[in-house]
Amino acid sequence: MKVYNTLSRQKEEFVPLEEGKVKMYVCGPTVYNFIHIGNARPMIVFDTVRRYMEYKGYEVNFVSNFTDVDDKIIKKAMEEGVTAQEISQRYIAECKKDMAAMNVKPATSHPLATEEIGGMLEMISTLIEKGYAYPAADGTVYFRTRKFEEYGKLSHKNLDDLQAGHREIKVAGEEKEDPLDFVLWKPKKEGEPYWESPWCQGRPGWHIECSVMSKKYLGEEIDIHAGGEDLIFPHHENEIAQSESCNGKIFAKYWLHNGFLNIDNKKMSKSLGNFFTVREISEKYDLQVLRFFMLGAHYRSPLNFSGELMEAAKSGLERIRNGAENLKHLSKNAREGQIDPKEQGIWEESQGFVAKFEAAMDDDFNTADGISAIFELVKFINTNVDGDSSKELLGNLRERLCQLCGILGIIAEGKEEILDVEIEKLIAERQAARKEKNFARADEIRGLLLEQGIILEDTREGVKWKRA
Ligand SMILES: [Zn+2]
Repeated sequence: MKVYNTLSRQKEEFVPLEEGKVKMYVCGPTVYNFIHIGNARPMIVFDTVRRYMEYKGYEVNFVSNFTDVDDKIIKKAMEEGVTAQEISQRYIAECKKDMAAMNVKPATSHPLATEEIGGMLEMISTLIEKGYAYPAADGTVYFRTRKFEEYGKLSHKNLDDLQAGHREIKVAGEEKEDPLDFVLWKPKKEGEPYWESPWCQGRPGWHIECSVMSKKYLGEEIDIHAGGEDLIFPHHENEIAQSESCNGKIFAKYWLHNGFLNIDNKKMSKSLGNFFTVREISEKYDLQVLRFFMLGAHYRSPLNFSGELMEAAKSGLERIRNGAENLKHLSKNAREGQIDPKEQGIWEESQGFVAKFEAAMDDDFNTADGISAIFELVKFINTNVDGDSSKELLGNLRERLCQLCGILGIIAEGKEEILDVEIEKLIAERQAARKEKNFARADEIRGLLLEQGIILEDTREGVKWKRA
């Protein structure tokens, strides 16, 4: 299996540190709002990497954090007049719902930054002891960037170029020894959450969080560290500097980064009004469509999101689901009995699509070609099975198709989730039934919705509903 390593800028053969095991860390979101579709891409992409590794027989320890203390969280808390914790807890819960709807598996561990402060104080202290960090007079602790000689090795940046870029933005009053130094710990401001430390009451910088959580849950050396390409610099570069200076070991063997996501060929931004949350997308599409759409491109390529492309993804996914549905349908009335020699040939030929799928995925997780192999398998199935096929062949092909889809986290068959518009329609129908005193029908509709996991609540303001 080959993976593209940002560190070496080439595809390398994947060799885990420990045979049969993969230790993988993916930087998670800062939780101050619903996640947007830019957040969804690394979640979907690296969940797929994990699933493929598991399919190959690796035991994957997959860690992904939530950054639950941050300027944006604090700002939102102040706007709403609630605690920062209330904001982060709320959006962690919402994020987990979206992840489930995108069929992103829960991580082995989902550590929270605020629960790992002890480890951060410890790592910062070690860095100070080793001369890699220093506290300034106001209690801010900085990392001494130039002291880490390999700084820039991930982003392939040169310290002197960085220095030149920094000259103009030197902030007055900052007590850094060098403009390149970055924050490990910062003093609290009025009304902000804080923790005690040897340097001041304050909170950690963002980069130290990941170094500490990765170390605690996976160890000092890990196989894969991943995230969006916007994290390469400075976040991942700083993580490397901290971890390798502290531990004296190579932090991560392979660095994987997914490409940007654009909306209608423009950068997604709130000011351009082309900003979508995953929740908004879910009102229009089954989130399996979003997943299928994202995997239709190579993870390192920039990806353009548009309504047209989502419609194309939707019909592509339907084609696969129809293939699975057809097998299920034929199977109902199929003859009992085993595969005959002719069918044996069909079965063996179908193995070729699995090989094609694996070859694509072994080549740096080329999900786009993997999906093409699945389409070819569907076409092959449609032309080679009919009402005369044996139950065994139909069943085996169905299993093969569902397995390949499952590696991509795509559910080829199963209960379709009911759409919001359909729910509203049924609720309106139930209201009408009640008005006509047709309580039997009204109850029937309530039961129907409940079967789909929709809970109704009759309130003074009208009927409210939620997904269980
Ligand atoms: Zn991180």
